Amino acid sequence: MRTPFVAGNWKMNKTVAEARALVSEMTPALRAVKGVEKVLCPPFMALVPVAALLQGTDIGLGAQDLFWEAKGAFTGQVSPGMVAEFCQYAIIGHSERRAYFGETDETVNKKIVAAFSAGLTPIVCIGETLSEYESGRTAEVVSRQIRAGLKALPVNLAPKLVVAYEPVWAIGTGRASTAVDANVVIRDHIRKPLAEMFGVETAQSIRILYGGSVTAANAAEFFGQTDIDGALVGGASLKLDDFVRITQAAVK
Ligand code: PEP
Repeated sequence: MRTPFVAGNWKMNKTVAEARALVSEMTPALRAVKGVEKVLCPPFMALVPVAALLQGTDIGLGAQDLFWEAKGAFTGQVSPGMVAEFCQYAIIGHSERRAYFGETDETVNKKIVAAFSAGLTPIVCIGETLSEYESGRTAEVVSRQIRAGLKALPVNLAPKLVVAYEPVWAIGTGRASTAVDANVVIRDHIRKPLAEMFGVETAQSIRILYGGSVTAANAAEFFGQTDIDGALVGGASLKLDDFVRITQAAVK
């Protein structure tokens, strides 16, 4: 059985002081939720202080991105090793990075390999844009993102992956996919290519999340689907009660 997984992507929100305050408030309630892998992904600046607050808890910490090189003249970048000093996870290929910062399937692939080399678990984001959705290209886009993003990944690493299916038109819009539609995309156009690349058994063991306007009100419907193993949560992860209720909804 795949352990449910819920991650909060805080994006570019919360100063260090604000992040510390929210994490301190959230930790007791999140710790009480058992049987779910729970991860917070605050901005880079807050990773070190938040790591200290999470020490000794069962709540994981993730960066929102990383660079693939180990060190050197790459002004402004953060290496996998630097992230791994404090974090266990890294979000890779978020649609905002693809849309605004030139992320491609090729750079996603390099980052996934580099994240694994540093001992991190990558949370790999894929999903179609509104125009791709409206022109019926969802299947083609997500399966391409899977095949190119995970190209040449050693089979033994694949079970450790976490994939997040996030239709771009659903992110931050309040217009979530239906749970049934998201499940079809995940089962037929994400898990199936994963099975072709890594074998059926491995594909069945990979956690695949849904992301895009998940709320405390709609989370349970997503988690009730056969192939949805949790959620990557943006806006609602900044609200204490909502995020705790979403993690509670993920308990099997
Ligand atoms: C996200 O940032 O990955 C996301 C899904 O955002 P939201 O939940 O706000 O749609």
